[in-house]
Amino acid sequence: MADAPHDLDVVVIGAGFSGLYMLHKLREIGLSARAYETGTGIGGTWFWNRYPGARCDVQSIEYSFSFSHEIEQEWDWSELMPSQPEVERYLNFVCDRLDLRRDIQLETTVVSAKFDEHDSTWTVTTSTGERVIARFLVGATGCLSAPLEPNIKGLHSFGGVSLYTNRFPSEGHDFSGERVAVIGTGSSGVQSIPVIAAQARSLHVFQRSAAYTLPSNTRPIDAQELAELKAAYPEIRRAQQEALAATARFGAFAALREPASRAILETPREEQLSALDERGWLGAFAWTDALVNYEASQAATALYGEMIRRVVKDPATAASLVPDYPFGCKRPCIDVGYFETYNRENVTLVNLKKDPIIEITPSGIRTEEQEFEFDVIVFATGFDAMTGALRRIDIRGRGGQALADVWATSPAGYLGIQVAGFPNFFTVTGPGSPSVLTNMVASIELHVEWIADCLAHLQATGCRTIEALPSAQDEWIEHGAAIVQGRLSTHETCTSWYLGANVPGKTRVYMPYAGGHPAYRKKVESVVAAGYEGFALT
Ligand code: NAP
Repeated sequence: MADAPHDLDVVVIGAGFSGLYMLHKLREIGLSARAYETGTGIGGTWFWNRYPGARCDVQSIEYSFSFSHEIEQEWDWSELMPSQPEVERYLNFVCDRLDLRRDIQLETTVVSAKFDEHDSTWTVTTSTGERVIARFLVGATGCLSAPLEPNIKGLHSFGGVSLYTNRFPSEGHDFSGERVAVIGTGSSGVQSIPVIAAQARSLHVFQRSAAYTLPSNTRPIDAQELAELKAAYPEIRRAQQEALAATARFGAFAALREPASRAILETPREEQLSALDERGWLGAFAWTDALVNYEASQAATALYGEMIRRVVKDPATAASLVPDYPFGCKRPCIDVGYFETYNRENVTLVNLKKDPIIEITPSGIRTEEQEFEFDVIVFATGFDAMTGALRRIDIRGRGGQALADVWATSPAGYLGIQVAGFPNFFTVTGPGSPSVLTNMVASIELHVEWIADCLAHLQATGCRTIEALPSAQDEWIEHGAAIVQGRLSTHETCTSWYLGANVPGKTRVYMPYAGGHPAYRKKVESVVAAGYEGFALT
């Protein structure tokens, strides 16, 4: 059967790590494609999250594409843990090196995509009024890309400057001499707070949940070390494939990988404290039971609190900085001098669990007990993760069914690659994939290569559609839920974005696949080997 008329083989939504590599692979297999990108530049996450102090928590040598030996060897990383500007420069280098720009349309948001069941094509419309017909649609929209405005009364009434870490101005912001508030102490808050504190006249940190954060231990990489790392690439890449989180070196959390020999609940207090002397922050968690048993996790948190008290001089501030939920529930942060920042005279912590925000006012913030005036409020309030970006696009599959409606009740997906009822639509690192629990770049490469191989297979076999079967999708969701059942990451005290618990009204489901990268990779490979098991090809 001849293909229905179409403008492009594939529309790709987004031009970050996923969109760039997808474009490259599509060219390799001879398909025409265009990527639409909302930003004025490429880079996705690394374009938008340009807040002061932004840094990756995976080592640069691993947070990079593995598919091109040339790119690996030509690009020089300057720091162990890369900063936002460096990752953005890297992605621009890759984009130019592969000559991808000619197929990327910037400042263009995909607003709708509708599947035509007769022609098996997608009709995509954009914010610029364009209408394109494509055979396939790829959501390369990232897992943490839909910014979340906090649900605070008077949010838009503030008369000063409102800044969002996840949409930080490209020209930056000079906080010198300003009275600044930061709301939010997740990764973005924890990383930006020390840098803002060093500039601002005063900084008030509004903390609802305290963060678990570990020193990033970043440092420059010198020429000799870089040469050694580049020579070790094949070995590093091999190790990534065998590692649960697809990281060979594991960055700031390296020591957590070393097998612990003792249970915290069976260790006398004195010896627990010695673990802190020996291993620093990681000493709080390197126990056989600390990440599996709630009572043990509370003991580990108490030990972490001891570390905080060793750094933070004011006892009340130190006490407020101790989390009240288990380690492993939320994504731990990495920082450079976070706790030390609270010893500065110009920094004040406001504990919202004791003194909640009532409203944002034209001049600042009013809590139950206090009123503050600010020149700037920085919102580090997070994202509608994993499903948010695609839910904001009007995507309609078979029978006109909206993806937003499907995902209103559950973040369904088969392998995180497709959603039943949406033929020829692929999600790179969608819900049900390990993605955010791993080195994102390794997960992205796996998906992009899987999708490209699948499209080449469809071409070769003359198939026009591929579609996840509802039964396979249901089984995959059940399997994913069984893995996390009883884990601290789904504990009742946990309100993470992994669970969607940070978004009012979002269904509480653990969205990423927690079975680890190697098991997941074997699964997606076996699906292909079995003739795309769980998918209907027509
Ligand atoms: P986040 O982890 O979701 O943190 C948002 C913060 O804002 C939380 O402290 C949250 O408090 C607070 N908040 C939200 N609404 C609020 C409200 N109405 N009133 C008061 N506080 C409110 O978001 P994020 O820091 O942007 O990080 C998101 C993810 O992006 C990270 O977990 C990580 O995966 C990724 N990221 C990584 C890096 C890195 O690699 N170094 C850096 C930045 C981001 P509650 O916790 O109480 O809800």
